[in-house]
Amino acid sequence: MEIGTDIKRAANYLNDGDVVAIPTETVYGLAASILSEKGIQKIYQLKGRPNNNPLIVHVASIEEISKWVEVWPEKAKILADAFMPGPITLVLPKSNKIPHYVTSGQDTVGIRVPNHPLFVELLKSLPAPLAAPSANPSNATSATQAKHVVSYFKNKDLPYVLDGGACTNGLESTIVGFEKNEVVIYRVGAITIEQIERWVGKVKRATTKKHTLTPGMFTRHYAPKTPLIMTDDLDAYTKQYPEAHVAILYTGKKKKSSNAKITYINLSESDNLEEVGQKLYATLLALDEQSYDALLIQPFPSTDLGITLNDRLTRATAKK
Ligand code: AMP
Ligand code: MG
Repeated sequence: MEIGTDIKRAANYLNDGDVVAIPTETVYGLAASILSEKGIQKIYQLKGRPNNNPLIVHVASIEEISKWVEVWPEKAKILADAFMPGPITLVLPKSNKIPHYVTSGQDTVGIRVPNHPLFVELLKSLPAPLAAPSANPSNATSATQAKHVVSYFKNKDLPYVLDGGACTNGLESTIVGFEKNEVVIYRVGAITIEQIERWVGKVKRATTKKHTLTPGMFTRHYAPKTPLIMTDDLDAYTKQYPEAHVAILYTGKKKKSSNAKITYINLSESDNLEEVGQKLYATLLALDEQSYDALLIQPFPSTDLGITLNDRLTRATAKK
């Protein structure tokens, strides 16, 4: 496995039908050309991803989207103009130029215009869009730095990691669908529901049951190996398990521990949830390398990015 910033090298592998890890503003991805069935199958195999979980298709510009979708509802256009390039994925009826092996047989495609400069430059140099899910084994915490991808896939057949630095959002894209003129949020993400509602009015949130084909919504996902506990009452936990070595993730004014068993990890001194988003996965992955008995965190207020952070934490804490 090679790691570097060589777009031509990455493009060569992709043009050969192989898989390359790519940086985005959300999380790192494992990419293959939508025209390479072999490459797409290799993504599923590398991740251990179930075949019924479709991949997001990435294109270099909003104009490109029109080539790959059949219908562009008015509200989808509004959201594209408002948030693209950026961390939003639109689920639209696919054109028949997108092979079914990319969409797990569905007639819709999740499509997105990323805003990471290296990734956009790579897309512009290629003859077709790239399909890419997050660059982590299925259900594990997403990678937000090249070194996370390396540690996940170092013993696997992944030839190249395009290193674009740390992801600026650090949280997955918001996935939005359109059902009978209604805007439906399939997965909350880096663009908040409030931001979306400012452009298209009230939206609906999909329930897991009804949208079984959006496994970003599977209960267990984004999970570190160390048990992660989300609770309002941190004291109750530390009192109940006084022998446990725990790390407490928090925001706000710096805290110092007077108890050798408890380590405090600050995610943002200024309570900035964007900063928390940027750091969350990298912090969980780093803590996973240490031998804590548990990681503790309080839920965030349930508005704006707090909704996304709580969603990811809930899935990362859910029992198998
Ligand atoms: P990942 O790239 O690992 O974050 O996963 C991508 C997410 O996008 C998964 O949860 C997919 O189920 C979802 N997705 C991709 N395409 C579609 C689609 N056509 N309809 C609904 N969800 C989709
Ligand atoms: Mg994922």
